[in-house]
Amino acid sequence: MNTDLSGKVVLVTGAGSGIGRATAQLVAQNGGQAVATDLVAPEFDSNAILGLRHDVTDAVRTDAVVAEVLDRFSRIDGLVTCAGIVATGDVEAMDLADWQRALDVHLTGTMLSCRAVAPAMKTAGSGSIVNIASIYGMTGGAGNLPYNVAKGGILQLSRSLAADLAPFGIRANSVSPGYITTPMTSMVEGYQPVHDAFVAMHLLGRPGRPEEVAAVIGFLLSDAASYVTAANIPVDGGFSGAQVIRP
Ligand code: NAD
Repeated sequence: MNTDLSGKVVLVTGAGSGIGRATAQLVAQNGGQAVATDLVAPEFDSNAILGLRHDVTDAVRTDAVVAEVLDRFSRIDGLVTCAGIVATGDVEAMDLADWQRALDVHLTGTMLSCRAVAPAMKTAGSGSIVNIASIYGMTGGAGNLPYNVAKGGILQLSRSLAADLAPFGIRANSVSPGYITTPMTSMVEGYQPVHDAFVAMHLLGRPGRPEEVAAVIGFLLSDAASYVTAANIPVDGGFSGAQVIRP
């Protein structure tokens, strides 16, 4: 896969661990400059990754982070929104605060980052936005109502952004991971029956690795994806494409 990111400056939110961290490292490994943000400024060995503190629900801080990126690097070519939290419960059991928090972090947080980078990308006449949704934004799923609804919103946000920003040369896409081994899924990993059942729903019969998601994100950030916008790319070992019964 062509992931030449030479000269590109890419802001990655939620980059303290998991998919976001792997994405920041991929950007640096492919010639780009990553700005990796999280609730606590992430640390990396590479000079090609700058860590900044950034709560994506904070609109003022989000604008300040983008201003700092432009001040330091004079450009912003890519945005990858990885910040996310678990939010469980069905419509009766869920806490209203959890519902609101899921919408704030996933949906409003993603929108605020997209809004913050849009002016500079418009001025440049180019840019690539990659929002991390989920297989559970594409399908329903029991027991994670706030999360699923927020992720479904991210899919729609990305498509609508793509339509609004296409005239300015800006592409916007979503990536929908399946079961990926990260701190977010450590609870599933720790409960063998659920882990096994979940793995069995993925055709490839194993969880994915953060680097396998980052590889697709890297493609979407690169000029190799110059004709790809308003797309959602599942990186889910086949979860969303086909079902299999394994007796
Ligand atoms: P992760 O827990 O390793 O990373 C999520 C990061 O987001 C954490 O570092 C956390 O500190 C950060 N974060 C949380 N709230 C934040 C906030 N308000 N502001 C800024 N940062 C915040 O999990 P991950 O699996 O790498 O998740 C990355 C994205 O991928 C998330 O949006 C998640 O919903 C999505 N996703 C993950 C999976 C999976 O199986 N791991 C599947 C589908 C989608």
